[in-house]
Amino acid sequence: MSAEKIQTMLRTIEDECRFTGGLTGRYALRQEVLNAMAAVRREEFVPDELKPYAYDNTPLPIGNGQTISQPFIVALMTDLLEPEPDDIILEIGTGSGYQAAVLSQLVRQVYSLEVIPALAEQAADRLQRLGYDKVEIIASDGSSGLHEHAPYDGIIVTAAAPRIPEALIQQLAPFGRMVIPVGKPHLPQELLLVEKSGHRVNSRRILSVAFVPFTGKGQA
Ligand code: SAH
Repeated sequence: MSAEKIQTMLRTIEDECRFTGGLTGRYALRQEVLNAMAAVRREEFVPDELKPYAYDNTPLPIGNGQTISQPFIVALMTDLLEPEPDDIILEIGTGSGYQAAVLSQLVRQVYSLEVIPALAEQAADRLQRLGYDKVEIIASDGSSGLHEHAPYDGIIVTAAAPRIPEALIQQLAPFGRMVIPVGKPHLPQELLLVEKSGHRVNSRRILSVAFVPFTGKGQA
């Protein structure tokens, strides 16, 4: 029964949040983030043969050498963005579309960029089939962001870049928040929370993480 598995996944996320609270500063997640995690069926975002593991707190392969992130990390990154119902969010790294689906429960619109066209197409078909109509997926390199809809209230990057792409800082709204893993393709990488207050940009380390590499131009 997926309802039970989802409840177990939520308890695991809450436990991990408590364990890592000293590092992340978040011992508990907002209730609306937990609700969004409860509402999205992760089993719809993984390959058929991995469906039995869909609610395990672990990343899983999704083809093309990429992975769907660990549920705890998806929940934590969502919480760090502090999404509000009117927000417009930019995601770099659509992958399966799972993170975008979770965010779309909480905000007005999600734009999500994916550099591998086959993954972008699969995720767009999946989200349309499942009725996630607040997500627009664009097959493109996210290194320069998406200036058409900027500025964004929140930017979430789900692949590890060696540094924060300058275009993304520029496209963040005043008082916007960005969550991004930064580091080399091999460990360690650090999840950063970047906050813009007016023209000032502050960034804070949250946690060591392991993401697939960001492959955009100018990032090698
Ligand atoms: N958020 C995803 C997990 C993403 S895995 C999910 O919920 O399933 C990271 C994804 O980032 C991969 O699909 C990879 O192809 C993509 N990616 C890496 N570099 C990118 C770039 N420069 N622009 C856009 N997407 C990128």
